[in-house]
Amino acid sequence: LTAPELLNRLVRLSQTLGQPAWDCVILGEGNTSARVDDDTFYVKASGAQLGTAGPEGYVLTKFGPPLALLYSEEATDEAVTETLLAAAIEPPGARPSVETMMHAYLLSYEGINFVGHTHPTAINAITCSARGQELATGGRLTPEEIAFCGRSSCWVPYSDPGLGLARALRTALEAFVEEYSVLPRTILVQNHGLIVPGRTAEEVETTTQIAVKAARTLAGTMAFGGPHFLPLCEVDRICARPDEAIRLRKMGWSE
Ligand SMILES: [Zn+2]
Repeated sequence: LTAPELLNRLVRLSQTLGQPAWDCVILGEGNTSARVDDDTFYVKASGAQLGTAGPEGYVLTKFGPPLALLYSEEATDEAVTETLLAAAIEPPGARPSVETMMHAYLLSYEGINFVGHTHPTAINAITCSARGQELATGGRLTPEEIAFCGRSSCWVPYSDPGLGLARALRTALEAFVEEYSVLPRTILVQNHGLIVPGRTAEEVETTTQIAVKAARTLAGTMAFGGPHFLPLCEVDRICARPDEAIRLRKMGWSE
C-alpha cells in the first residue's frame, strides 16, 4: 500500500472499531496506528475520535524519538511532551496520541503493520475485576477464540497511560514471547483495555471482534458455575490443524 492508501485503510479500521454497536470506545477513547516504512508510521492524533475522524485525525510520526524514550532510563512528563512534538512530521503542529510509544514499540516488530487499542466494556469487565489476570490468562473457551486470538492473551499489569504503559507492555510481551515463541494476538491491560497488533487491518478488526465476543461468553459462564477452559491438548490441536492454517491464509495473515 502507498502511504495515502495506508492512511485510508487506517481511517476505515478506526471507524470500524469506533462504531457504537461494537461498544469498544466512546468520545476520544482508544487509538490506532499503521506502519509506513522503517522510519515512519501513522498514529491517531491526541483528542481525535476513532469513530468519526478522517485522515486529518492521524499524524505521520517518526519511530526514532518515541523508541529512544521507551528505552531510556528515566523520563519526565516534559520529556514525553517534547518527544511527541519532535516525532510528529505532518500535519504541522499535530500532537500524536499519548500512547505513541506503545504503538511504535509494537510496530517495530516484523510482521506487525497495524495496531488497534480500544476500551471494550466486555473486556474491561474482566480487566477491572478482582480475578482479572486469572480469567484473562486462564485458558481459551472456543476453537474460534484459539484460531483468532492465539493460545493465550498477554496480560499487562496496570501502569500510568503513555510511557508507563509502553514500558509495562514491553516487559510483559518479552516474557510472553519467551514462554510461547510467538507474538501475542491479544493483549489485555489491567484496568484499561485491549491492544490488538496485526499483520493487516482486517486481522485487527476480526481479532478485536472475536476477543470481545469471548469476553461476553466468559461473563455468561459465571451464571452457570464458571468457565470450562479447553484442555491444553485441544488448544495445541487447533493451533496445529492444517485447516486452521488454511483459514488463516485465506484471511491474508498466515505466518
Ligand atoms: Zn487506552
